[in-house]
Amino acid sequence: QNSLLSATGTTIFTVMSALAVQHGAINLGQGFPDYDGPEDVIEAAAAALKDGRNQYPPLTGVPELRGAVAAHNRRFYGLEVDPDAEVVVTSGATEAVTACLMAVLNPGDECVLIEPLYDTYLPVVRLLGAVPRLVRLSPPDWALPRAELAAAFGPKTKAILFNTPMNPTGKVFTGAELAFLADLIARHDCYAICDEVYEHLTFDGWRHIPLMTLPGMRERCMRIGSAGKTFSLTGWKVGYVTCDRSLAPNVAKAHQNLTFTTPPNLQRGVAVGLMKDDAYFEGLSSSLQARRDRLARGLKELGFGVLEARGSYFITADFRPLGFNGDDVAFCRTLTEEAKVTAIPVTAFYAPREHALDASADAPSHYARFAFCKGEAVIDEALGRMKKWV
Ligand code: PMP
Ligand code: GLN
Repeated sequence: QNSLLSATGTTIFTVMSALAVQHGAINLGQGFPDYDGPEDVIEAAAAALKDGRNQYPPLTGVPELRGAVAAHNRRFYGLEVDPDAEVVVTSGATEAVTACLMAVLNPGDECVLIEPLYDTYLPVVRLLGAVPRLVRLSPPDWALPRAELAAAFGPKTKAILFNTPMNPTGKVFTGAELAFLADLIARHDCYAICDEVYEHLTFDGWRHIPLMTLPGMRERCMRIGSAGKTFSLTGWKVGYVTCDRSLAPNVAKAHQNLTFTTPPNLQRGVAVGLMKDDAYFEGLSSSLQARRDRLARGLKELGFGVLEARGSYFITADFRPLGFNGDDVAFCRTLTEEAKVTAIPVTAFYAPREHALDASADAPSHYARFAFCKGEAVIDEALGRMKKWV
Protein backbone atom coordinates (compact mmCIF):
# COMPACT_ATOMS: atom_id res chain seq x y z
CA GLN A 1 0.00 0.00 0.00
CA ASN A 2 1.47 3.33 -0.99
CA SER A 3 0.49 6.41 0.99
CA LEU A 4 2.23 9.45 2.39
CA LEU A 5 2.94 7.37 5.49
CA SER A 6 4.75 4.65 3.55
CA ALA A 7 7.94 6.71 3.72
CA THR A 8 7.75 6.89 7.51
CA GLY A 9 9.63 4.10 9.25
CA THR A 10 8.77 2.50 12.59
CA THR A 11 9.77 4.94 15.31
CA ILE A 12 13.37 4.60 16.49
CA PHE A 13 12.16 4.28 20.09
CA THR A 14 10.22 1.11 19.29
CA VAL A 15 13.05 -0.27 17.14
CA MET A 16 15.69 0.24 19.83
CA SER A 17 13.46 -0.99 22.68
CA ALA A 18 12.79 -4.20 20.75
CA LEU A 19 16.52 -4.62 20.13
CA ALA A 20 17.16 -4.07 23.86
CA VAL A 21 14.71 -6.83 24.75
CA GLN A 22 16.19 -9.13 22.13
CA HIS A 23 19.70 -8.75 23.56
CA GLY A 24 18.83 -8.47 27.24
CA ALA A 25 20.22 -4.92 27.23
CA ILE A 26 19.60 -2.19 29.80
CA ASN A 27 17.37 0.25 27.98
CA LEU A 28 18.75 3.79 28.23
CA GLY A 29 17.14 4.43 24.83
CA GLN A 30 13.42 5.14 24.96
CA GLY A 31 12.70 7.85 27.52
CA PHE A 32 10.60 6.29 30.25
CA PRO A 33 11.27 6.18 33.99
CA ASP A 34 11.76 2.75 35.56
CA TYR A 35 10.07 4.01 38.74
CA ASP A 36 6.43 4.87 39.32
CA GLY A 37 4.78 8.28 39.58
CA PRO A 38 3.37 9.79 42.80
CA GLU A 39 1.15 7.44 44.78
CA ASP A 40 -1.62 9.97 45.40
CA VAL A 41 -1.94 10.59 41.65
CA ILE A 42 -2.21 6.85 40.97
CA GLU A 43 -4.65 6.42 43.89
CA ALA A 44 -6.86 9.19 42.56
CA ALA A 45 -7.05 7.53 39.14
CA ALA A 46 -7.70 4.11 40.72
CA ALA A 47 -10.48 5.54 42.86
CA ALA A 48 -12.01 7.18 39.79
CA LEU A 49 -11.91 3.84 37.95
CA LYS A 50 -13.90 2.23 40.76
CA ASP A 51 -16.14 5.23 41.13
CA GLY A 52 -17.94 4.83 37.83
CA ARG A 53 -15.90 7.42 35.92
CA ASN A 54 -15.64 5.13 32.95
CA GLN A 55 -17.79 6.67 30.21
CA TYR A 56 -16.97 9.38 27.67
CA PRO A 57 -15.90 12.54 29.46
CA PRO A 58 -16.47 16.01 27.95
CA LEU A 59 -14.68 16.55 24.63
CA THR A 60 -12.16 19.12 25.88
CA GLY A 61 -11.45 17.33 29.16
CA VAL A 62 -13.00 16.87 32.60
CA PRO A 63 -13.63 20.24 34.32
CA GLU A 64 -11.35 19.31 37.24
CA LEU A 65 -8.37 18.79 34.98
CA ARG A 66 -9.04 21.88 32.87
CA GLY A 67 -9.23 23.86 36.12
CA ALA A 68 -5.98 22.32 37.33
CA VAL A 69 -4.22 23.15 34.04
CA ALA A 70 -5.37 26.78 34.35
CA ALA A 71 -4.22 26.94 38.00
CA HIS A 72 -0.86 25.41 37.06
CA ASN A 73 -0.39 28.05 34.35
CA ARG A 74 -1.10 30.81 36.88
CA ARG A 75 1.10 29.34 39.63
CA PHE A 76 4.22 28.71 37.57
CA TYR A 77 4.04 31.31 34.79
CA GLY A 78 1.56 33.98 35.82
CA LEU A 79 -0.62 33.10 32.81
CA GLU A 80 -4.34 33.81 33.23
CA VAL A 81 -6.24 31.07 31.38
CA ASP A 82 -9.98 30.42 31.10
CA PRO A 83 -10.36 26.70 31.95
CA ASP A 84 -13.59 26.45 29.96
CA ALA A 85 -12.41 28.10 26.77
CA GLU A 86 -8.61 27.90 26.64
CA VAL A 87 -7.64 24.35 27.65
CA VAL A 88 -7.94 21.14 25.63
CA VAL A 89 -6.98 17.79 27.17
CA THR A 90 -5.55 15.24 24.73
CA SER A 91 -4.32 11.66 24.75
CA GLY A 92 -0.70 12.57 25.30
CA ALA A 93 1.45 15.38 24.00
CA THR A 94 1.86 13.37 20.81
CA GLU A 95 -1.80 13.89 20.02
CA ALA A 96 -1.58 17.49 21.22
CA VAL A 97 1.20 18.28 18.74
CA THR A 98 -0.79 16.77 15.89
CA ALA A 99 -4.01 18.51 16.97
CA CYS A 100 -2.27 21.90 17.14
CA LEU A 101 -0.72 21.43 13.70
CA MET A 102 -4.15 20.44 12.33
CA ALA A 103 -5.67 23.48 14.01
CA VAL A 104 -3.63 26.00 12.03
CA LEU A 105 -2.02 24.44 8.95
CA ASN A 106 -3.56 24.34 5.49
CA PRO A 107 -2.02 22.58 2.50
CA GLY A 108 0.80 24.70 1.10
CA ASP A 109 1.41 26.60 4.34
CA GLU A 110 4.97 26.61 5.59
CA CYS A 111 5.86 25.38 9.05
CA VAL A 112 9.26 26.14 10.60
CA LEU A 113 10.82 23.22 12.48
CA ILE A 114 14.04 23.11 14.46
CA GLU A 115 16.48 20.22 14.12
CA PRO A 116 17.22 18.00 15.91
CA LEU A 117 13.48 17.37 16.15
CA TYR A 118 11.11 14.91 17.79
CA ASP A 119 10.18 12.13 15.42
CA THR A 120 6.44 12.79 15.03
CA TYR A 121 6.76 16.41 13.89
CA LEU A 122 7.85 16.05 10.29
CA PRO A 123 5.53 13.21 9.17
CA VAL A 124 2.49 15.06 10.50
CA VAL A 125 3.44 18.37 8.87
CA ARG A 126 3.82 16.48 5.59
CA LEU A 127 0.54 14.56 6.01
CA LEU A 128 -1.27 17.88 6.33
CA GLY A 129 0.19 18.96 3.00
CA ALA A 130 2.20 21.73 4.65
CA VAL A 131 5.79 22.49 3.74
CA PRO A 132 8.48 22.00 6.41
CA ARG A 133 11.22 24.64 6.67
CA LEU A 134 14.02 23.20 8.72
CA VAL A 135 16.53 25.14 10.77
CA ARG A 136 19.39 23.24 12.33
CA LEU A 137 21.01 23.73 15.74
CA SER A 138 24.63 22.68 16.00
CA PRO A 139 26.47 20.92 18.78
CA PRO A 140 28.07 21.36 21.20
CA ASP A 141 26.01 24.33 22.42
CA TRP A 142 22.89 24.03 20.20
CA ALA A 143 22.53 27.84 20.04
CA LEU A 144 19.83 29.31 17.80
CA PRO A 145 21.30 30.30 14.40
CA ARG A 146 19.51 33.62 14.16
CA ALA A 147 20.19 34.51 10.54
CA GLU A 148 19.09 31.08 9.34
CA LEU A 149 16.02 31.17 11.49
CA ALA A 150 15.04 34.59 10.16
CA ALA A 151 15.59 33.32 6.60
CA ALA A 152 13.26 30.36 7.20
CA PHE A 153 10.33 32.69 7.86
CA GLY A 154 8.55 34.12 4.83
CA PRO A 155 5.18 35.16 3.45
CA LYS A 156 3.89 31.57 3.50
CA THR A 157 4.93 30.83 7.09
CA LYS A 158 1.91 29.83 9.15
CA ALA A 159 3.54 28.34 12.21
CA ILE A 160 6.67 27.29 14.01
CA LEU A 161 6.78 24.09 16.08
CA PHE A 162 9.60 23.76 18.59
CA ASN A 163 10.50 21.97 21.80
CA THR A 164 11.96 23.44 24.99
CA PRO A 165 13.40 21.98 27.20
CA MET A 166 14.58 20.02 24.24
CA ASN A 167 14.76 16.34 23.42
CA PRO A 168 17.41 15.04 22.63
CA THR A 169 19.82 17.96 23.26
CA GLY A 170 18.84 18.99 26.79
CA LYS A 171 18.83 22.59 25.54
CA VAL A 172 16.67 25.10 27.42
CA PHE A 173 15.79 28.08 25.22
CA THR A 174 17.02 31.34 26.79
CA GLY A 175 14.92 34.46 27.27
CA ALA A 176 16.93 36.19 24.54
CA GLU A 177 16.37 33.34 22.08
CA LEU A 178 12.65 33.34 22.83
CA ALA A 179 12.49 37.12 22.37
CA PHE A 180 14.14 36.72 18.96
CA LEU A 181 11.59 34.04 18.05
CA ALA A 182 8.69 36.15 19.33
CA ASP A 183 9.76 39.04 17.12
CA LEU A 184 9.81 36.80 14.02
CA ILE A 185 6.44 35.27 14.88
CA ALA A 186 4.81 38.67 15.35
CA ARG A 187 6.37 40.15 12.21
CA HIS A 188 5.25 37.22 10.08
CA ASP A 189 1.85 37.07 11.76
CA CYS A 190 2.01 33.36 12.52
CA TYR A 191 1.50 30.85 15.32
CA ALA A 192 3.80 28.92 17.62
CA ILE A 193 3.25 25.35 18.75
CA CYS A 194 5.33 24.99 21.88
CA ASP A 195 6.12 21.42 22.95
CA GLU A 196 6.93 21.98 26.62
CA VAL A 197 6.57 18.42 27.92
CA TYR A 198 9.82 18.74 29.92
CA GLU A 199 8.76 22.06 31.49
CA HIS A 200 9.51 20.85 35.03
CA LEU A 201 12.69 18.99 34.15
CA THR A 202 15.37 21.70 34.21
CA PHE A 203 18.65 21.60 36.13
CA ASP A 204 21.42 23.74 37.63
CA GLY A 205 19.08 26.69 38.16
CA TRP A 206 17.98 26.80 34.50
CA ARG A 207 14.31 27.78 34.32
CA HIS A 208 11.82 26.96 31.61
CA ILE A 209 10.20 30.05 30.07
CA PRO A 210 7.05 29.49 28.00
CA LEU A 211 7.11 31.56 24.81
CA MET A 212 3.47 32.28 25.63
CA THR A 213 4.56 34.57 28.49
CA LEU A 214 6.42 36.98 26.17
CA PRO A 215 4.79 40.21 25.01
CA GLY A 216 2.47 39.68 22.05
CA MET A 217 2.65 35.88 22.28
CA ARG A 218 -0.43 35.11 24.42
CA GLU A 219 -2.76 34.88 21.39
CA ARG A 220 -0.27 33.16 19.10
CA CYS A 221 1.00 30.23 21.18
CA MET A 222 -0.33 26.75 21.75
CA ARG A 223 1.51 25.48 24.83
CA ILE A 224 1.68 21.71 25.32
CA GLY A 225 2.28 19.78 28.56
CA SER A 226 2.34 16.05 29.34
CA ALA A 227 1.42 14.13 32.47
CA GLY A 228 3.80 11.43 31.27
CA LYS A 229 6.80 13.63 31.96
CA THR A 230 5.50 15.76 34.82
CA PHE A 231 4.34 12.75 36.86
CA SER A 232 6.67 10.01 35.55
CA LEU A 233 3.69 8.13 34.09
CA THR A 234 4.55 7.90 30.40
CA GLY A 235 2.06 5.10 29.71
CA TRP A 236 -0.89 7.20 30.77
CA LYS A 237 -0.82 9.38 27.66
CA VAL A 238 -2.55 12.46 29.04
CA GLY A 239 -1.54 15.78 27.50
CA TYR A 240 -2.93 19.30 27.71
CA VAL A 241 -2.94 22.28 25.38
CA THR A 242 -3.22 25.84 26.66
CA CYS A 243 -4.07 28.42 24.02
CA ASP A 244 -6.12 31.50 23.32
CA ARG A 245 -9.90 31.14 23.05
CA SER A 246 -9.64 31.99 19.34
CA LEU A 247 -7.51 28.86 18.72
CA ALA A 248 -8.98 26.35 21.18
CA PRO A 249 -12.09 25.48 19.09
CA ASN A 250 -9.90 24.30 16.22
CA VAL A 251 -7.64 22.31 18.54
CA ALA A 252 -10.78 20.74 20.02
CA LYS A 253 -12.09 19.87 16.55
CA ALA A 254 -8.81 18.17 15.71
CA HIS A 255 -9.01 16.23 19.00
CA GLN A 256 -12.61 15.29 18.16
CA ASN A 257 -11.41 13.69 14.94
CA LEU A 258 -8.32 12.03 16.38
CA THR A 259 -9.43 10.42 19.64
CA PHE A 260 -12.51 12.46 20.65
CA THR A 261 -11.79 12.08 24.40
CA THR A 262 -9.13 10.95 26.86
CA PRO A 263 -9.73 8.42 29.72
CA PRO A 264 -11.64 10.30 32.48
CA ASN A 265 -10.13 8.31 35.37
CA LEU A 266 -6.59 9.17 34.29
CA GLN A 267 -7.62 12.80 33.86
CA ARG A 268 -8.80 12.78 37.47
CA GLY A 269 -5.38 11.53 38.62
CA VAL A 270 -3.55 14.17 36.60
CA ALA A 271 -5.79 16.90 38.06
CA VAL A 272 -4.65 15.84 41.55
CA GLY A 273 -1.05 15.84 40.32
CA LEU A 274 -1.12 19.37 38.91
CA MET A 275 -2.41 20.65 42.25
CA LYS A 276 0.50 19.11 44.19
CA ASP A 277 2.63 21.53 46.22
CA ASP A 278 5.77 23.24 44.93
CA ALA A 279 7.95 20.75 46.83
CA TYR A 280 6.80 17.99 44.46
CA PHE A 281 7.91 19.88 41.36
CA GLU A 282 11.22 20.89 42.95
CA GLY A 283 11.80 17.29 44.07
CA LEU A 284 11.14 16.00 40.56
CA SER A 285 13.85 18.15 39.00
CA SER A 286 16.39 17.65 41.79
CA SER A 287 15.98 13.88 41.69
CA LEU A 288 16.46 13.89 37.91
CA GLN A 289 19.44 16.21 38.21
CA ALA A 290 21.11 13.69 40.54
CA ARG A 291 20.47 10.90 38.01
CA ARG A 292 21.83 13.08 35.21
CA ASP A 293 24.97 13.81 37.22
CA ARG A 294 25.50 10.12 37.96
CA LEU A 295 25.21 9.10 34.32
CA ALA A 296 27.20 12.09 33.01
CA ARG A 297 30.04 11.42 35.44
CA GLY A 298 30.17 7.75 34.48
CA LEU A 299 30.07 8.42 30.73
CA LYS A 300 32.89 10.97 31.07
CA GLU A 301 34.99 8.46 32.98
CA LEU A 302 34.47 5.99 30.14
CA GLY A 303 35.83 8.58 27.72
CA PHE A 304 32.64 9.89 26.08
CA GLY A 305 32.47 13.57 25.14
CA VAL A 306 29.41 14.42 27.24
CA LEU A 307 27.44 17.52 26.22
CA GLU A 308 25.76 19.70 28.82
CA ALA A 309 22.09 18.75 29.46
CA ARG A 310 20.21 21.62 31.04
CA GLY A 311 16.84 19.90 30.91
CA SER A 312 14.82 16.85 29.72
CA TYR A 313 15.48 13.13 30.37
CA PHE A 314 18.52 12.93 28.09
CA ILE A 315 22.27 13.26 27.72
CA THR A 316 23.89 13.36 24.30
CA ALA A 317 27.42 12.01 24.18
CA ASP A 318 30.11 11.97 21.50
CA PHE A 319 31.45 8.44 21.18
CA ARG A 320 34.40 9.25 18.86
CA PRO A 321 36.91 9.50 21.75
CA LEU A 322 36.22 5.79 22.39
CA GLY A 323 37.73 5.03 18.99
CA PHE A 324 34.55 3.45 17.60
CA ASN A 325 34.72 3.09 13.85
CA GLY A 326 31.23 3.75 12.49
CA ASP A 327 28.23 6.05 12.67
CA ASP A 328 25.71 6.52 15.48
CA VAL A 329 23.33 3.84 14.19
CA ALA A 330 26.17 1.31 14.13
CA PHE A 331 27.36 2.47 17.53
CA CYS A 332 23.95 2.09 19.19
CA ARG A 333 23.41 -1.30 17.61
CA THR A 334 26.86 -2.55 18.65
CA LEU A 335 26.49 -1.14 22.16
CA THR A 336 23.20 -3.02 22.50
CA GLU A 337 24.53 -6.28 21.09
CA GLU A 338 27.92 -6.32 22.77
CA ALA A 339 27.79 -4.15 25.89
CA LYS A 340 24.09 -4.90 26.49
CA VAL A 341 23.23 -1.24 26.92
CA THR A 342 20.85 0.59 24.57
CA ALA A 343 21.01 4.22 23.47
CA ILE A 344 19.36 6.17 20.63
CA PRO A 345 21.30 7.41 17.58
CA VAL A 346 20.90 11.19 17.40
CA THR A 347 20.59 11.19 13.58
CA ALA A 348 17.07 9.80 14.18
CA PHE A 349 16.19 13.38 15.18
CA TYR A 350 17.13 14.82 11.79
CA ALA A 351 15.01 14.98 8.66
CA PRO A 352 15.82 12.85 5.66
CA ARG A 353 18.12 14.74 3.31
CA GLU A 354 15.45 15.90 0.83
CA HIS A 355 13.82 18.13 3.47
CA ALA A 356 16.97 19.93 4.54
CA LEU A 357 17.30 23.61 3.65
CA ASP A 358 20.95 23.05 2.94
CA ALA A 359 20.99 19.62 1.36
CA SER A 360 24.78 19.48 1.47
CA ALA A 361 24.86 19.41 5.24
CA ASP A 362 24.84 15.99 6.80
CA ALA A 363 23.47 15.53 10.29
CA PRO A 364 26.15 14.94 12.92
CA SER A 365 26.46 11.17 13.23
CA HIS A 366 28.73 10.76 16.24
CA TYR A 367 26.30 11.26 19.11
CA ALA A 368 24.26 8.78 21.11
CA ARG A 369 21.38 9.79 23.36
CA PHE A 370 21.23 8.19 26.82
CA ALA A 371 18.15 8.44 29.07
CA PHE A 372 18.91 9.01 32.76
CA CYS A 373 15.34 8.68 34.11
CA LYS A 374 16.34 5.39 35.71
CA GLY A 375 17.12 4.01 39.16
CA GLU A 376 20.65 4.57 40.46
CA ALA A 377 21.41 0.84 40.47
CA VAL A 378 20.34 0.59 36.83
CA ILE A 379 22.51 3.55 35.83
CA ASP A 380 25.46 2.00 37.68
CA GLU A 381 24.88 -1.41 36.11
CA ALA A 382 24.74 0.14 32.63
CA LEU A 383 27.99 2.02 33.29
CA GLY A 384 29.59 -1.15 34.62
CA ARG A 385 28.62 -3.07 31.47
CA MET A 386 30.01 -0.33 29.24
CA LYS A 387 33.24 -0.23 31.26
CA LYS A 388 33.85 -3.89 30.50
CA TRP A 389 33.14 -3.25 26.84
CA VAL A 390 35.22 -0.12 26.03
N1 PMP B 1 7.29 15.69 22.69
C1 PMP B 1 8.53 15.36 23.07
C2 PMP B 1 9.65 16.30 22.82
C3 PMP B 1 8.76 14.13 23.68
O1 PMP B 1 10.00 13.79 24.05
C4 PMP B 1 7.68 13.25 23.87
C5 PMP B 1 7.92 11.87 24.37
N2 PMP B 1 8.00 11.75 25.62
C6 PMP B 1 6.40 13.66 23.50
C7 PMP B 1 6.25 14.87 22.88
C8 PMP B 1 5.21 12.77 23.67
O2 PMP B 1 4.62 12.87 24.91
P1 PMP B 1 3.36 11.95 25.29
O3 PMP B 1 3.91 10.66 25.78
O4 PMP B 1 2.63 12.72 26.35
O5 PMP B 1 2.55 11.76 24.08
N1 GLN C 1 9.57 10.59 24.05
C1 GLN C 1 10.26 9.37 24.28
C2 GLN C 1 11.71 9.52 23.87
O1 GLN C 1 12.10 10.49 23.29
C3 GLN C 1 9.71 8.21 23.53
C4 GLN C 1 8.29 8.19 23.19
C5 GLN C 1 8.02 7.09 22.20
O2 GLN C 1 8.49 6.00 22.37
N2 GLN C 1 7.30 7.40 21.16
O3 GLN C 1 12.45 8.62 24.17
